[in-house]
Amino acid sequence: MTETMLSNSMAALLGYLIPFVLFTFLGFLCAGRQAIQWSSDLVRSAGVNLLIPILNGLIGPFIMISVALVHASYEGLGLPKTPLAFWDQLPVWVGMLAWLITIDFCDYWIHRLLHTRGFWDVHAVHHSDETMNWTTSSRMHILEIVIMQSSYILFASWMNLAQSSRCGFCTIIGSIRATTSILVH
Ligand SMILES: [Zn+2]
Repeated sequence: MTETMLSNSMAALLGYLIPFVLFTFLGFLCAGRQAIQWSSDLVRSAGVNLLIPILNGLIGPFIMISVALVHASYEGLGLPKTPLAFWDQLPVWVGMLAWLITIDFCDYWIHRLLHTRGFWDVHAVHHSDETMNWTTSSRMHILEIVIMQSSYILFASWMNLAQSSRCGFCTIIGSIRATTSILVH
């Protein structure tokens, strides 16, 4: 368990550290010393933003258990699933596109939900960064992550992609989406 928690935190840290080194280097090449003259507000903001995924990584098993419960409930209730043959007869790119659209759909509607009265207290953490920078995407309350991941797992359970031969490609889509999320912020 401890090993999982530490590896989650390390993965979260590396996920930001590697792009940080790469983009700082590119910024330095393009703009010189100006690219590494950060204001104290920016340094403080990035410090908080990088600490949050480490702490969230330490309680990663809580996220995994919550998401596993959602999946188990879906299975337990015997809710409908897309037949595996449906995906296997289609080209790989169709499955990837379907998963990309599904993630985007979840992101959009869950984000709207998070801006409503009952959920705003959780989502306010994400909007608390007064010095927006590319690490801002990591500033998320643990419950927001659970809500987001649960929406993905509900659709994944219905689409049944995880059981099909297209599962690996969906993981690639998830990684690309995580990277674009950093760039969007
Ligand atoms: Zn928002």
